[in-house]
Amino acid sequence: DLLVVGSANADLVIGVERRPAAGETVLGSDLAVHPGGKGANQAVAAARLGARTALLARIGDDAYGRLLLDSQRAAGVDTVGVLVGGAPTGIALITVDPSGDNSIVVSPGANGRLTPEDVRAAAGLFHASRVVSAQLEIPLETVVEVVRSLAPGSRFVLNPSPPRPLPAEVLAACDPLIVNEHEAKVILGAVDGGSAVGDRPEDWARVLLAKGPKSVVVTLGSQGALVASAEGVERVAAVRVDAVDTTGAGDSFTAALAWKLGAGSSLAEAAAYAARVGAVAVTRRGAQESFPTAAEVEGR
Ligand code: ADP
Repeated sequence: DLLVVGSANADLVIGVERRPAAGETVLGSDLAVHPGGKGANQAVAAARLGARTALLARIGDDAYGRLLLDSQRAAGVDTVGVLVGGAPTGIALITVDPSGDNSIVVSPGANGRLTPEDVRAAAGLFHASRVVSAQLEIPLETVVEVVRSLAPGSRFVLNPSPPRPLPAEVLAACDPLIVNEHEAKVILGAVDGGSAVGDRPEDWARVLLAKGPKSVVVTLGSQGALVASAEGVERVAAVRVDAVDTTGAGDSFTAALAWKLGAGSSLAEAAAYAARVGAVAVTRRGAQESFPTAAEVEGR
């Protein structure tokens, strides 16, 4: 079974002709409300593929929390670990202009109240899980407790998003650490004038691996991905598609990879499958709405 530990947000989206300046009001489109957050997205993506999936997350006792619970249950996710209360449900306030550029304000809300104690109280879920997947839209101390709570023989997958420097204890547990280009550069300290690692993803993968993870996956959008482990660095070919919306691509990729690893696939096999899942997801609009079933991945 797969356990996803992470965030659940309601995405509130309004189309605007242009962004308001300070003190100004502009009119926008009708409001669209979508279930989101990286944890919730990964859980839905895995369950839709057929994975037995549980989500450990925190939502508010409010209408957005109920929307998130409904979307998890509709996908077949076990929601016994979805805790309620302590703060309002996490919200992303998103305005989109005609060129497609986003401006986003995130209120972490209940996601910021998912504590190490919540993780300890979910020991039963950890014992039932071969693979545990996390991201960084919850407190880092909570992710540290996740690593300490892994059942013997179970595997930890981390997508460090939004990226920040990671403690050695967390890095050492990752098998794999899954990063896109931006996340790779932040973890490597290569943004804002930090150390130079060049522009070859193979080099990022090697340097990341040397920081302690058991394995590393670098996702490269339409260029596919790289997998790196003690056995070396391997390329995973991209699947050619006409992309219409890349929202959620990384979440569906990570979910698919985690599920396949739990089912016994090698890292390279799991990444090749995950690339097919991500490729289907980018051919459809939205995040959770875009995630395919296993049948829809066949033939890609
Ligand atoms: P993120 O969404 O985290 O930025 P990427 O954009 O690297 O991550 O996408 C994750 C994976 O989804 C890629 O490794 C690739 O397999 C697949 N993918 C993303 N964009 C495309 C695309 N335009 N065509 C085909 N596959 C894609």
